[in-house]
Amino acid sequence: MQERGAKALFLDRDGIINVDHGYVYEIDKFEFTEGLFELLRIFVAKGYLLFVVTNQSGIERGYYSEDDFQTLTKWMLDRLKKEGIEVTSVQFCPHEPQKKCTCRKPKRGMVDKILSQHRIDLANSWLIGDKQSDIDLALNSDIANTIGIGKRTIEKATHTFKTILECKLFLEENQAIIKS
Ligand SMILES: [Mg+2]
Ligand SMILES: [Zn+2]
Repeated sequence: MQERGAKALFLDRDGIINVDHGYVYEIDKFEFTEGLFELLRIFVAKGYLLFVVTNQSGIERGYYSEDDFQTLTKWMLDRLKKEGIEVTSVQFCPHEPQKKCTCRKPKRGMVDKILSQHRIDLANSWLIGDKQSDIDLALNSDIANTIGIGKRTIEKATHTFKTILECKLFLEENQAIIKS
């Protein structure tokens, strides 16, 4: 049988891992979403690698520095590890939209970077995000399964839920849709 690579879960950050208060860069403003740890553990238990892909234009806009972002990221990863959740890597785009870089979602630069470092089975991989640009990133990079979260209208996601908690409850009841 041909080796297909690792299954992966690609995660947006703001609005998915943490409550989106707008340009979050301080630890005391970083609030994990309800149900997130349990949701991630479902994927971890099934052998998925976790990757964060996040647009952080607040860096180029000068709202916070790359150091601020990295300090928060290290804290976030430590907290997740304490919950038994290992993230393989965090990719971020620091650019403003008008820079027309190749990494700002929905462009696929951040996913391409991950694919250059890991063999990923995209057909059995998932992406969770709260904006159309997240879902469009998945479409642009052949990530087959997508979950849109929130009250915004999100088109072309394979699943949509109002909250991470609602998503987590659904996945607990329907674990078979996530390939082991
Ligand atoms: Mg988001
Ligand atoms: Zn960029």
